Amino acid sequence: MIRAVIFDLWDTLVDFDPVAGRAFQDRVAERLGRDPDEFAALWLEGRAQRESGTLHDYLLNIGAPEELLDDLVTLRRDSTRSLLRPRCGAVETLEELRTLGRRVGLITVCSEDVPDVWSETPFAGLFDATVFSCSVGLRKPDPRIYRLACAELGVAPDEAMFVGDGANDELAGAERVGMRAVLIHRAGEEPPWDEVRDWQGPRITAIPQVLSLLAE
Ligand SMILES: [Mg+2]
Repeated sequence: MIRAVIFDLWDTLVDFDPVAGRAFQDRVAERLGRDPDEFAALWLEGRAQRESGTLHDYLLNIGAPEELLDDLVTLRRDSTRSLLRPRCGAVETLEELRTLGRRVGLITVCSEDVPDVWSETPFAGLFDATVFSCSVGLRKPDPRIYRLACAELGVAPDEAMFVGDGANDELAGAERVGMRAVLIHRAGEEPPWDEVRDWQGPRITAIPQVLSLLAE
């Protein structure tokens, strides 16, 4: 019996938007007086650090002047707030899962702007547990991040379903701790990640399809 459904965030509950991401990087590069292409490469390189610690530490590490830190974090929060728009049917599905007596969780690899603005998004209040990598210092597919989410939800891993687009090897990571893993990808397209191109487990192309998997 599946008692909890745990979701990934980017390209699962919301669209990851590389154009908006680059626009943000360009604005930061401008504020820092850096070349935009060089800065974009630097930003990409620092992903793991941003996703497991604070933005202040990351920005100091790349040489941002202390007096600009708060402005840069504000820029990042503004960008992220605009990106956290639920995909079609996502909010209704999260609500329905709870109506059906299931616990609802989130495990996302993200920087601290996501938890900073979370309560202002349409997702606020819809989860029984939210695990943000930057807040716990763990990233998928570390088994501890899945176990932490299950513990917060009060379920055993084999009572939980994990739904994600497969980035960070997250689906195999979920299976390794005993969860049931479900791949989500865009209808009519191949999954974008090599690790899941030949995924043999369940697949969905829209969040509401989770509900029919529960009935199986
Ligand atoms: Mg994702």
